[in-house]
Amino acid sequence: MTAAEAPTSGGEALSVEFRAATKRYPGADRAAVEELSLEVPAGDICVLVGPSGCGKTTAMRMANRMVEISSGDVLIGDRSVRERSPSQLRREIGYVIQQIGLFPHRTIADNIATVPRLLGWDSEAARKRALELLELIGLEPELGDRFPAQLSGGQQQRVGVARALAANPGVMLMDEPFGAVDPINRERLQNEFLRLQAELGKTILFVTHDIDEAIKMGDRIAILREQSHIAQFDTPERILVNPADDFVADFIGRGASLKRLSLSRVRDVELHQWPTAQEGASTDEIRRVLDASDKSAVLILDEQRRPLRWVTADHLSRASGSSLGTTGLPAEAVVQPNATLSDTLNEMITARYSTAIVVDSSNAYQGIVDIDTINETVRTLRRAERGRLRHEDDEDEAR
Ligand code: ADP
Ligand code: MG
Repeated sequence: MTAAEAPTSGGEALSVEFRAATKRYPGADRAAVEELSLEVPAGDICVLVGPSGCGKTTAMRMANRMVEISSGDVLIGDRSVRERSPSQLRREIGYVIQQIGLFPHRTIADNIATVPRLLGWDSEAARKRALELLELIGLEPELGDRFPAQLSGGQQQRVGVARALAANPGVMLMDEPFGAVDPINRERLQNEFLRLQAELGKTILFVTHDIDEAIKMGDRIAILREQSHIAQFDTPERILVNPADDFVADFIGRGASLKRLSLSRVRDVELHQWPTAQEGASTDEIRRVLDASDKSAVLILDEQRRPLRWVTADHLSRASGSSLGTTGLPAEAVVQPNATLSDTLNEMITARYSTAIVVDSSNAYQGIVDIDTINETVRTLRRAERGRLRHEDDEDEAR
């Protein structure tokens, strides 16, 4: 699916800003959300993560006024949500929840077309839109005439995403959207969604209680404690390397697994590949490589396959003639297989594209390490750590 096929009936991504947003439920002795301030730039995925009951759902629902704000404000594209009508908010903001909430007695196509119909589209336009969206999320058009109960949980969740996208909103609110599906399907849905987001570039507020999901999905993560007080708001990389306090450290699985990142080496993990081209390749060739990949840059290598520069579509369009010359950004964050993952992570933080380039002992390109690799390793280490702690407890009891 290319971006060109993605429907474009407006839907420009808008920034979202919480300004001391507070919610006090009637009769409660303290605020569910107290003075939450948070800025999400247009086109970013911001994850709100925190323990159950810390006010994530409440915070998110203030953005589309499903929950009325007690004090403070939420701005979408620099304008207060208080100034907008509910139908305008429905058009500008897609909403996906864990329980999916599909109407059981309506077909899949009718479910997806819910918001367009509410907005007054005629039935033919709404159906056409529903079929486009089925394709966009990778489901067969035939499924449009089935009923929700005839689909698997994973398929239903995809339909939930399609429905939220139906009116082409600029902003999406996703509340534990993949929480109810099994781990394998969740992983698949996460990956599909990230691929879709790379094309659509929506502004996304994503709620989860799962730190691994937060690290995977977020451009930025807000780790929340009770009453949605922000413990830390930063990129996943920085939070992993530099947790703000014990609360955050505990939440990400303190010490054990992260410290062990310094015991793991680049040679122990599976490298990912990045689109590459050889120095001297024509701009047309490089553009073809770029178009065929889901990345935003091509890595240029010299004749000995040593990394030289990153080249983006922007560089290509600025290059005069068919040759690129030395246009591009220097390839930094280069590591060898014996580098620790901890060092690699440190390199990645400052690198473009949050990527470390792996070379062999003669400095020839081997592949890349990205945040997914680190996350996967942390997860594996944490699992091992939990197993070990349980084992020690058993031994203590036996003594
Ligand atoms: P989370 O999504 O992080 O689990 P919620 O936003 O659902 O947290 O809830 C935050 C707090 O607000 C909790 O103490 C919860 O009991 C309370 N709360 C949530 N919804 C309501 C409501 N409709 N009326 C009263 N209290 C509520
Ligand atoms: Mg919730």
